[in-house]
Amino acid sequence: MDSPAPKRVYIQNFGCQMNDYDVDRMIELLRDDGWSMAATQDEADLIVLNSCSIREKSEQKVQSAAGRLRELKQRGVMVAVGGCVAQQEGGRLLQQIPTADIVFGPDQIPRLPELVRRFRVDKRRVADTSVIDVEDYQFLDANPLPGDVRVTSLVTIQKGCDNHCAYCVVPVTRGREVSRPLDEVVAEVRHFVSLGSREVTLIGQNVNSYHGAGSVDGDDFAELLRRVDEVEGLYRIRYTTSHPKDFTAKVAAAFRDLPRMAPFLHLPVQSGSTRTLKRMVRGYTREEYLRKLDLARSACPDLSLSTDIIVGYPGETAADFAETMSLLREVEYDSIYSFEYSERPDTPALKLALRDDVPVDVKAARLQEVQALQREITARRLGRFLGRVAEVLVEGQSRLGQGQLCGRLGGNEMVYFVGDPALVGRLVPIRVDVARTHTLCGEIAGPALPDLAVPSSPVRRKRLLPVLAS
Ligand code: SAM
Ligand code: SF4
Repeated sequence: MDSPAPKRVYIQNFGCQMNDYDVDRMIELLRDDGWSMAATQDEADLIVLNSCSIREKSEQKVQSAAGRLRELKQRGVMVAVGGCVAQQEGGRLLQQIPTADIVFGPDQIPRLPELVRRFRVDKRRVADTSVIDVEDYQFLDANPLPGDVRVTSLVTIQKGCDNHCAYCVVPVTRGREVSRPLDEVVAEVRHFVSLGSREVTLIGQNVNSYHGAGSVDGDDFAELLRRVDEVEGLYRIRYTTSHPKDFTAKVAAAFRDLPRMAPFLHLPVQSGSTRTLKRMVRGYTREEYLRKLDLARSACPDLSLSTDIIVGYPGETAADFAETMSLLREVEYDSIYSFEYSERPDTPALKLALRDDVPVDVKAARLQEVQALQREITARRLGRFLGRVAEVLVEGQSRLGQGQLCGRLGGNEMVYFVGDPALVGRLVPIRVDVARTHTLCGEIAGPALPDLAVPSSPVRRKRLLPVLAS
């Protein structure tokens, strides 16, 4: 029989926004099964490690986190390992991680409470990483408590990925692509908004290939954006991740036509060299990628942009790398995520016999070069806000304390300023007076903007531009 003592769970998360979303669902499922959240591992009866396997380093982080649990295990704590490493390794993970009692794949998240209950009774270590058929897959609806809802929420629109980017393990760990039905997505957005969210990020590995709307012209993602844009009380829509090869003119036009679209686009390029892009099996050339950016920028001239860059991909020459550097100079992204190539099991790169042949010191030097260049560009891009009044959606109190609040511009730039915590969830005009390396600081320049009740009003459309005045 279960012990009557309160059951407390601590969840340590690694990886991408998909994992953040999954953790929120785990919390809700365990909560409904009588668990409460522990503030630290020491207070927990169950520790869940939600793993990421996108790069070798991510995988090592999970292994070391699990290793550190030995002492707690002796005190009887249960350990469950989920996420992409669990999916990749399956039952082998029980040998690799002796502290793990339960291993579960992303498709088995709904079974987590049951797996835990069973283990409490029979103490038999178990791995369930079975994958649900595409036809039978059902998305878990978010079920947050009102107090747990943030100003900005993630809403999943898709799972898995049908692309074959040669470096990427996601199709192995997350399986075939499945789109969530449009009405379910819209209902979840409405639900988050009714509980206080003001911004949603629609998440999927390749949102542009979303096909859950059954639209007449087949551009289901554009249709989904249009429908989400109708949700009253919502201030901003973002999405991630866009695949350049599937990014359409209609999706670009949403930046101009839909008043709730935040002026921000994350469009991962990976490399500036067409030769490397071909070897990555990305499905576009440098020129085609730049044309997609032109589409987006002509729909929204003050768009903020971010991207992902991989350096040291197999066979990447100094000339290929120079093209990545020149692309960064040409595009002037607001921010980037950059990574050294890391060989991953069962990826197409291995099947194509692409050897991980760029020496580690060359990879490290290239990464540093990319990051140094981007620091300069980011500083320049942030500088454009200095002295201007911009619209900030207030997300919460800053961890720095001192009465500071934090929030973001439509372009995703983080802004710190002193203000009343009652402003959380409101759109506030801020005069920007300091640009730091990655963030901005400023002061309130007027009353919070009234709620944006009329989505199509021209005033509202104008207001959603990131900068209100100079
Ligand atoms: N689906 C998204 C896309 O197509 O851009 C993102 C997938 S992944 C979670 C995020 C980023 O990790 C990728 O865009 C890529 O830059 C990086 N990444 C993926 N596999 C990698 C690998 N084997 N080595 C280094 N970086 C990798
Ligand atoms: Fe990986 Fe490519 Fe799919 Fe992104 S689109 S998840 S990089 S295979």
